[in-house]
Amino acid sequence: MMESALILLNNSQTNRHHYIFQFVFEENLGIPFECTSSISQFEEANNSIKINYSNHPCNTLCALSIFNAEFLQQIGFNQSLPTIQGSGTETTIFPSPKDSLFDFSFDVFSAIFFLLTRYEEYQDTPKDQHGRFQAKHSVATKHQFLQFPLVDIWLDAIQQKLDLPNVPKRKFKFIPTFDLDQVWSYKHKGISRLAVKLVRSLIRLERRNIVDIINILIGKKQDPYFVFNYLFQLHNQHEHIHPIYFLAVGKWSNFDKNTPIKKHSFKLFIQDLSSRYKVGLHPSYSSNTKTHQLQKEYNDLKNLISYPLKRSRQHFLKVSFPETYSNLIQIGIEKEFSMGYAEAIGFRASTARHFLWYNLALEQTEQLRIYPFQIMDVSLFNYLNRSSQQALHDFEHIKKQIETYGGNLITIWHNSSFDEKEGWDKSKQTFFETLYSEAAKSQIFS
Ligand SMILES: [Zn+2]
Repeated sequence: MMESALILLNNSQTNRHHYIFQFVFEENLGIPFECTSSISQFEEANNSIKINYSNHPCNTLCALSIFNAEFLQQIGFNQSLPTIQGSGTETTIFPSPKDSLFDFSFDVFSAIFFLLTRYEEYQDTPKDQHGRFQAKHSVATKHQFLQFPLVDIWLDAIQQKLDLPNVPKRKFKFIPTFDLDQVWSYKHKGISRLAVKLVRSLIRLERRNIVDIINILIGKKQDPYFVFNYLFQLHNQHEHIHPIYFLAVGKWSNFDKNTPIKKHSFKLFIQDLSSRYKVGLHPSYSSNTKTHQLQKEYNDLKNLISYPLKRSRQHFLKVSFPETYSNLIQIGIEKEFSMGYAEAIGFRASTARHFLWYNLALEQTEQLRIYPFQIMDVSLFNYLNRSSQQALHDFEHIKKQIETYGGNLITIWHNSSFDEKEGWDKSKQTFFETLYSEAAKSQIFS
């Protein structure tokens, strides 16, 4: 039998083990591996790099010896959390026994599994008014590592300890993304919705607003949400960057207010946009409880674009485990972009790399790839109330982490955020353009 480049001695082989070794060794360190529970096979594999993950002493030289907390042998999820010690980049999860001679002071494989699968989000933690898990309840906030890609830092440590040759270079990639909850603020909304907006403006005596609205409707003034000429120009200046636009095409509701998909103007817009850039689905708020709506929205958008519709991000970032992701797989989504917090910036899954979703309810790896984001416009300016200066500081820190450890810098902007009435001003524009060009520059130099 051909020996693999790397062999792990491991008591049992579960789906969890396979998932995490695949992520660490094949996907990120670029090295094929095999597992064995046979000590003699392990000892004889002299042409392979050896990792002992068994808690058995072995009579052979190992490149790494890692404490096995046996978390990857468990099934399902329970309400207790693992032991977590320290804070920031010094955090350890599943610590090794005191005075033991392991190469890590904790079970790094279980720790990565715990963070990537979002194990803690399956627990009965109180949710916010939209049913979302909140950053303040996360172990990353409690142990002050939300601003650090701990998983990527540990991958780097594994690589250094193994001293691997030919590891693929860790690349920095910038993916700006845009959520189009409402393509237009006034235009193409339909008479009844426009009437509601006009009556509201009249009641509030917003005289200027009425004049503005009329000018927008007769085409004398640009609709304040329709900022695509500006965005397209910006993208044109950075041709190596490929933005993604997520489109809300659901039925009108309290939280879903885009132009109806049957409107010709909206269809034309989608066709034009999707011919220039990648587009994804932005499932409506109500699709979370009505899955037939999710399917309809997917079909409606799919029928308008000329390539397969594979990408999605939840409106309001509404994700509950495991239902949301399972529903998205059902309709044909393969790449998901909701992994991040509304009320905080940083690394929700402690990584800037994409990874396959492991479904803890079914104990299996699913064919849905998660693309975590780190920074969203409304997180910075609405939830966290940052000045543009502070926001730039936050961005520089995140960018530095991803430049160092590799991965995707993914940002979310809403087209509606570029409206002065939503708080857009010169300093925010400078911040946005600085972020865009700095991130684009980092990608060239990575
Ligand atoms: Zn949205």
